Amino acid sequence: MPKQLYLNHAQLNAEINRCLNCKNQPCMKACPAGCNPHDFIQYAKNNDFDKAVKAITQANPMGQTCGLVCPDKFCMKACTRANIDFSINIPKVQATILEKYRCNNKKTNITYNNKKVAVIGAGPAGMAAAEKLANNGFRVAVFEASDKIGGALNMIPNNRLPFDVIEKDWKFIAQNELISLHLNAFVANPEHLLQKGFCAVIVASGEPNCIDLGIEGEEYSISYLDYLKSPDSYLSSGNIAIVGGGAVATDCAVTARQNGAENVEMFIRRRICDMRITEEERKSLIENNIDLTTMTKIKKISKTNGKLVLYTCKTHFVNGKLEEIEGTTIQRPNFDMLIKAIGSSAPKCNDSENIFYAGDCKHGGSTVVEAVASGKDVAQKVIESF
Ligand SMILES: Cc1cc2nc3c(=O)[nH]c(=O)nc-3n(C[C@H](O)[C@H](O)[C@H](O)COP(=O)(O)OP(=O)(O)OC[C@H]3O[C@@H](n4cnc5c(N)ncnc54)[C@H](O)[C@@H]3O)c2cc1C
Repeated sequence: MPKQLYLNHAQLNAEINRCLNCKNQPCMKACPAGCNPHDFIQYAKNNDFDKAVKAITQANPMGQTCGLVCPDKFCMKACTRANIDFSINIPKVQATILEKYRCNNKKTNITYNNKKVAVIGAGPAGMAAAEKLANNGFRVAVFEASDKIGGALNMIPNNRLPFDVIEKDWKFIAQNELISLHLNAFVANPEHLLQKGFCAVIVASGEPNCIDLGIEGEEYSISYLDYLKSPDSYLSSGNIAIVGGGAVATDCAVTARQNGAENVEMFIRRRICDMRITEEERKSLIENNIDLTTMTKIKKISKTNGKLVLYTCKTHFVNGKLEEIEGTTIQRPNFDMLIKAIGSSAPKCNDSENIFYAGDCKHGGSTVVEAVASGKDVAQKVIESF
């Protein structure tokens, strides 16, 4: 069954009417981007959807995207309603309000302050930084290496985050005429942009490198980056192995299964309870019949007659540290593809004069809302410096 992205009218009313109108607004305090669900829910209750939309978008220019993909560890975890029954599905309420009630108007009343800033990367951190700077009078040029906006958001499967939602958030941001977007514009060196007259450069280039397994036979594996960028160009049947137990590995597993793989098995070094995934992601693993092989490490990959053989061993905790159990290596034959999804990395980045870093390239793999918060923070630094 297709995933229901938004609430219908009755569901929206039911959700917002469960809000307890808490005085101390824990939901707002838990949002990295400083969005205030208490306020937008109260506006929605009063049928003032213009104000509800403003309350969301002023704090979070990527509000609809975050509404669809925010994990439950922020506002939902803080929601007081959970003490009675269960948390309000705040992200879904947010996404629904924007989907139904947002209308964009060109922002024409902002005066250009004669200062230009370059932003490298049109992912959530770069987009949020651009929006904040342009709203404060800076002319902002966003340089994006690829041919589309969104960065890592484009790897989130379409059934969780359709591309048109990313576009809707970008259209809202780009209402400000001080922003220009340059696609297919790889920037090799941020210093060059300073020499071209930009007073500051914000680098929001994400984490472009998939972490390797570091084992014999690595060449038979596919990185999650390559796979999720275009799953349709890979095998859509057979037995697929996924290495990793996080949210990205989960996306790979579910995508492979929905694309037609007969069996999808995740190899995870730790326990099920150590998997850093949301309840919804857990549910999707079960609904898609994904096998989980936990406390297991892949030590080597080989290929025989076109099929992959995985050499696995069991792991256990010794004084809190994960170690291999000697003598437990076995061969697991008959795999058609192996996708590695054990994390990503970026080259080290430290701020230097008038060059500032934001988002995942600075803080490591995070979430969209944290990347937005980081972009806003860095934009604020630039605003205060010039
Ligand atoms: C499969 C997957 C699923 C995810 N699921 C979720 C989820 O459900 N919920 C959630 O909150 N988060 C999720 N995330 C994490 C989230 O997408 C990232 O944390 C977020 O996109 C990071 O934003 P960013 O702007 O820092 O970097 P990115 O989104 O990586 O954007 C960086 C951009 O910079 C561009 N760039 C890089 N170098 C250059 C250069 N030299 N010149 C020009 N452009 C350049 C890149 O092309 C890219 O477009 C997921 C990530 C992945 C990979």
